[in-house]
Amino acid sequence: MRTVYVNGEYLPESEAKVSIFDRAFLMADGVYEVTSVLGGKLIDFDGHAKRLARSLNELDMKAPCTEDELLAIHRELVARNEITDGLVYLQVTRGSAGDRDFAFPDPETTEPTLVLFTQNKPGLAESPAAKTGIKVISLEDIRWGRRDIKTVQLLYPSMAKMAAKKAGCDDAWFVEDGKVTEGSSNNAYIVKGGKIITRELSHDILHGITRAAVLRFAKEAQMVVEERSFTVEEAQQADEAFVTSASSFVMPVVELDGAKIGAGTPGPVAARLREIYLEESMKMAV
Ligand code: PLP
Repeated sequence: MRTVYVNGEYLPESEAKVSIFDRAFLMADGVYEVTSVLGGKLIDFDGHAKRLARSLNELDMKAPCTEDELLAIHRELVARNEITDGLVYLQVTRGSAGDRDFAFPDPETTEPTLVLFTQNKPGLAESPAAKTGIKVISLEDIRWGRRDIKTVQLLYPSMAKMAAKKAGCDDAWFVEDGKVTEGSSNNAYIVKGGKIITRELSHDILHGITRAAVLRFAKEAQMVVEERSFTVEEAQQADEAFVTSASSFVMPVVELDGAKIGAGTPGPVAARLREIYLEESMKMAV
């Protein structure tokens, strides 16, 4: 049985409780982060903590504790659950004012809810999918207009994963005004003529922590990066495609809406970026 963290306490998962009036339960009024663990250490923790602070700030939510305290909780959970490879899920909600109301409760009297738990994923970095690549479908992006805030409103991404599965694929890429925004739970990239192309940062996409690190490593390795949007057709005609996220690192995409991308096998740029990302981020892991 896992040990989880709820509002200051480490508890067996079966004893952890949150109010039925919690605003995340009633209104999806909460934000989250997922940090990967490799070799018992946290990958890109600083980036995730900084983005959490930004999400909270954008929604006028109170921070439940300091960044140092968050790091200590992450480490304690990794140790107590003996996680070598896996994930730490963190969620902060606006808390419970003891009733249902659209208006935000007074932050002076309603404390945020803070929940963390681990997911054990032995061999997380040796995923077989990284060798074969994944297949994606495109779907209209009907999410809200502030995708840069990492909220727990994940119904549409869940529906997208189900639609992909039904189509015999692994994931979905969202499209708005004819241009790819991002994957259902990752940032999307194509490679053409050696250039790495990914949508620019705005309210339209989540500012991926893995994206920031991968683009930094790519530039350091003298690769050319172009931050702009692209269409499904351009992606289908690209040399390569891939996605990035904290839990999948760099994952090659080999098919989009039934069309093979490049040779239909993982390309060298994605493979090299995966290698660099894993090597460099493990060096900086805490
Ligand atoms: N875009 C969306 C919609 C996501 O849900 C995620 C991760 O969950 C990402 C991008 C990738 O972000 P990160 O690299 O910080 O995990």
